[in-house]
Amino acid sequence: MTTSAELFERACRHIPGGVNSPVRAFKGMQRPPVFMERARGAYLFDVEGNRYVDYVGSWGPMITGHADPDVLGAVRERLDNGLSFGTPTAIETTMAELICEMIPSMEMVRMTSSGTEATMSAIRLARGVTGRDKIIKFEGNYHGHSDSLLVKAGSGALTHGEPSSPGVPASLAEHTVTLPYNDIDAVEQCFEEIGDQIACIIVEPVAGNMNCIPPQRGFLECLRRACNAHDSVLIFDEVMTGFRVALGGAQAHYGIHPDLTCLGKIVGGGMPVGAFGGSETIMSNISPLGPVYQAGTLSGNPLAMAAGIALLTKLREPGFHDALTQRVETLCHGLEERAVAAGVEMISQHAGGMFGLFFTGQTRVDNFAQATACDAEAFRRFFSAMLDEGVYLAPSAYEAGFMSSAHTPEDIQHTLDAAEKAFVTMRQ
Ligand code: PLP
Repeated sequence: MTTSAELFERACRHIPGGVNSPVRAFKGMQRPPVFMERARGAYLFDVEGNRYVDYVGSWGPMITGHADPDVLGAVRERLDNGLSFGTPTAIETTMAELICEMIPSMEMVRMTSSGTEATMSAIRLARGVTGRDKIIKFEGNYHGHSDSLLVKAGSGALTHGEPSSPGVPASLAEHTVTLPYNDIDAVEQCFEEIGDQIACIIVEPVAGNMNCIPPQRGFLECLRRACNAHDSVLIFDEVMTGFRVALGGAQAHYGIHPDLTCLGKIVGGGMPVGAFGGSETIMSNISPLGPVYQAGTLSGNPLAMAAGIALLTKLREPGFHDALTQRVETLCHGLEERAVAAGVEMISQHAGGMFGLFFTGQTRVDNFAQATACDAEAFRRFFSAMLDEGVYLAPSAYEAGFMSSAHTPEDIQHTLDAAEKAFVTMRQ
């Protein structure tokens, strides 16, 4: 049998760090990553035959569980027609219609091949239509790895201790203004000073790349107000929250209408897909209708569209998100109870189908400074003990957890039993 350790050693010879995306490397977890062979429902199975209850869900897309037969079936049905044509296909229009119906702030949508491309393109569009260069983002929010957005970012960049990356020209980074998340005063002051230079605000409406931090009451409303007052574009990065926090995304949950929305993850059903869109007025500026250039050889790929449409269609079943949220609440409540019983300081935060665990004595965590002040070593020990008990959490204290409709009450109970043991182990 080939072990994960052997595969990792081999991978490291020709792949930087042995992985094709940094956080997979388990770098902060002081153990080699687990190599998975297959997945089904709520479970991952590693190359050594071990089974894990999975709360990563391929970092979000697997909201109905892995290898969903309806999604696989839709892809299979298309497969023999060919992988890609580089021409328009009817299925792209079906996808656009579906997205615009589910997210009413989007009247027009352009598909991309990743979330990074979606946010990068949305920023370009905002700069193009306003004729301004400066953008506002929030500390610890991650919007993919394009240059303008890799400034004080969260997620993998944060896990590796480099929230801002070398290689981003200072002359570009100076156009990115970074403010503390959930800080209404900071937003208002910034707009007072340089509001007429701000092309856009880009925000994760629930932050999921510095653990899980929902917006405080009034924060998203303040962003909307500031953008209205200064003719700036409000971009909701719903790559993670889209179709997960609620059917219509965080914007439906919190009742805020952004000018542009970025999507990814669930919209591709597990295939490499992103999307961005907004009103017809703003989207008419995108090439070939308008002058703001944006393109992609594989954008709108028919197999990816088939997977995404099959998944989105399933999410429209009445009660889907209520049931998902209920599962998250049961899990979080159970974990908190067990932490208290074990004398471990841990709290949870959640929104719809996403959640986060913070090892802290605080009662809530609202921003980057508070998230990074949590006990990362306690998380590492918890993560490792949970993995040994067959529960796969994101290998970083700064990632959200994802629930799926495939997680059964038994899976959640297994997780709670594992946590009970883990809390004891981590205190030894
Ligand atoms: N935006 C958010 C909120 C994300 O969480 C991510 C990825 O995790 C991205 C953008 C980038 O998406 P991708 O990794 O598909 O490029």
